[in-house]
Amino acid sequence: MSRSSRLLARARDVIPGGVNSPVRAFAAVGGDPPFIARGEGAELIDEDGHRYIDLISSWGALILGHADTAVLGATMAAASRGSSFGAPTEAEIELAEEIVARMPSVEKVRLCSSGTESTMHAVRLARGFTGRDKIIKLEGNYHGAHDAMLVKAGSGVATFTDGKATTEPGSPGVPAATAAHTLVAPYNDAQAVADLLKAHDGEVAAVILEPVAGNMGCIAPGDGYLEDLLALCEGAGALLIFDEVMTGFRLARGGAQELFGVQPHLTCMGKVVGGGYPLAAFGGRADIMDHLSPVGSVYQAGTLSGNPVAVAAGLATLRQLDATVYASLEAAGARIEQGMSSAVNYHGCSFRRVGSMFTLFFRGAAPNNFSEVQECDLDAFGRFFRAALSGGVYLPPSQYEAAFLNASITERQVAQVVDGLTSALVAAHLH
Ligand code: PMP
Repeated sequence: MSRSSRLLARARDVIPGGVNSPVRAFAAVGGDPPFIARGEGAELIDEDGHRYIDLISSWGALILGHADTAVLGATMAAASRGSSFGAPTEAEIELAEEIVARMPSVEKVRLCSSGTESTMHAVRLARGFTGRDKIIKLEGNYHGAHDAMLVKAGSGVATFTDGKATTEPGSPGVPAATAAHTLVAPYNDAQAVADLLKAHDGEVAAVILEPVAGNMGCIAPGDGYLEDLLALCEGAGALLIFDEVMTGFRLARGGAQELFGVQPHLTCMGKVVGGGYPLAAFGGRADIMDHLSPVGSVYQAGTLSGNPVAVAAGLATLRQLDATVYASLEAAGARIEQGMSSAVNYHGCSFRRVGSMFTLFFRGAAPNNFSEVQECDLDAFGRFFRAALSGGVYLPPSQYEAAFLNASITERQVAQVVDGLTSALVAAHLH
């Protein structure tokens, strides 16, 4: 019995399913998750000594790779001065200034500790600012595990409903009365949002979306889609919220909003902004942000918000993210896409990539929305995943997730990914 199997059995006695976040359990793809002992650059090493090229990168957080020297130095120095004060520090201003400099739509920003918190606070702020209750979200987009957003959500919510559409609410425990304020439209369909805004005229506080979706696999917005949503929101007096928890500081210096040239009213950030530590943020127009307590009356708070160790990690990460890093991530992504293209076509699959995020879909035509992702062959994806893992490539364990590259991946590792995924595609079709 492997050490990972023994650890999983022990974990299951004291942790539901043995994991602290459901997708880690491999329930959708079969097999047991390896327990990770350490990470080195673009690789993970498990408790049995197996090495994997890591295409999860902590679900996108580790854009520089594992145990980056500068991040390590900054966090050790910060921790040695004290782990948490519950009082303001200068480094929080530096991180806020770094964020504001990168995202012109963000004039003021507040730090919190998780992506879930950031969308929860942004939704409350939008409601408080507009005096309206309803929120429009998009099918297959995931904004964290709080009640208002657990309606037709992607990621684990989609994975564990066997890919079937979730009913409203998307989880037991979410009151129907809460879910009733969350309206849902398909992704990449501006007319559907227009229809909802019309049907609920004067009631919608915000439209929230992933500007590039990563939680139903990687799906890019169609031409003009983000611009159309902004115009619709402005026409309806609603706020446009970009959830850039995955895309922020990953797809470009200023996130997806820079890449697509669309400025939302509010932006949610997480993952990269905390450099692999529990830190997230939300920000936007100053007059909207000033509705937050203590200036305004919309309440929002957090004991560990702006935690000094996490802030140090975020700063040490963002300060390294220059044009060279984005160019090298793009080049690595493009080499994987090109290297895979004939095998992807041969096996009747499709490949979707935006920069360093990508998904190989088991469907001939690349999907543009959640219902098209549901048409994928999930059994074939499971075989593909297991073959890739045993070949040393660690993919996200669900068709409803995007893979993330980190900047420490070498040419040799890119070639290993192409070889490993190509062999896994063959294995997925041998049954
Ligand atoms: N929004 C998006 C777009 C996400 O991808 C995620 C997590 N994957 C979240 C919000 C929630 O973030 P967290 O898991 O840090 O609460």
